[in-house]
Amino acid sequence: MMPQPHTLKIFEIFPSIQGEGLRQGEATLFIRLSGCNLKCSFCDTKWAWQGGKQMSTTVIVRTIERLHKRFPAEWVCLTGGEPLLQDITDVTRNLKKHGFKIQVETNATIFRSLPVDWYTISPKPDEYFFQPEYKKLAKEVKIIVTRELLFETIEKLRGEFPQATPILLQPQSNRKWSMDLGLKLLKKSIQHGLNNIRLSVQLHKVYGIR
Ligand code: SF4
Repeated sequence: MMPQPHTLKIFEIFPSIQGEGLRQGEATLFIRLSGCNLKCSFCDTKWAWQGGKQMSTTVIVRTIERLHKRFPAEWVCLTGGEPLLQDITDVTRNLKKHGFKIQVETNATIFRSLPVDWYTISPKPDEYFFQPEYKKLAKEVKIIVTRELLFETIEKLRGEFPQATPILLQPQSNRKWSMDLGLKLLKKSIQHGLNNIRLSVQLHKVYGIR
């Protein structure tokens, strides 16, 4: 019997503009993997917890290359759900070989050693747990401003990452109450001498794009 190729459960592959974090505004090809190991009540991609289609590395890379012809983005972002639930080693290596820069957006509960250019990590309540490898590897730490987010949590995270790693306060689905709370928490952070805490926004929702 022929060995079956390694496949990944993919929810969607699409071209867009990165709406979150420091790469905000840059053309990006997105690979959204299905499934997540957390079930956050505020999740704005709940539809990707289930479903999707099994695709081989060859088919995924071919799809990206095809999209790249009409939307020549430098970056590929693997997102979810939680993209590291599945073994994306093969696909990231292949995309690197094709010259793409790779971003991974993860809740940081899982670490895999991969050729990634940009880790965006977003630890989640209540524990805000993250794998220790991300202390050095994360390019940015994205915290969703939920109603329960405390200043003490921001302070603790600030102490755990190098000062040069920004901590972004991202409003929950761009809600006004969340922006107000984010601003309040930022002011308190400044008053307490915490550096490199920044306000953020979901740009794609402002522009009404995917
Ligand atoms: S970790 Fe992210 S994708 Fe998973 S449930 Fe939470 S918000 Fe949704």
